Amino acid sequence: LSLADKLSLNKFEVNEGEPHIRIDQQVCRTCREKSCLTACPAGLYSEQNDQITVEWAGCLECGTCRIICGKKAISWEYPQGGFGIIYRQG
Ligand code: SF4
Repeated sequence: LSLADKLSLNKFEVNEGEPHIRIDQQVCRTCREKSCLTACPAGLYSEQNDQITVEWAGCLECGTCRIICGKKAISWEYPQGGFGIIYRQG
């Protein structure tokens, strides 16, 4: 199986009302690097109309964005118990 095939086997239990990633847009506007846009292995970050958004429901829970944001604009917690990604291939 390719990496993409393995990732497609994962299951996500989404806690709809409770995003586990939050972004401080005011701080983001002061950031030039916007490393989150390229660092997320799942490509969940995007920018439109000067706003950074993250499709948190597809998060792989790697924690990369939390560490790479030099402005500390990303609040990140593991999803509540029972929610989040369920890996099928380790
Ligand atoms: Fe992407 Fe990893 Fe951050 Fe989830 S934790 S949004 S997969 S970089």
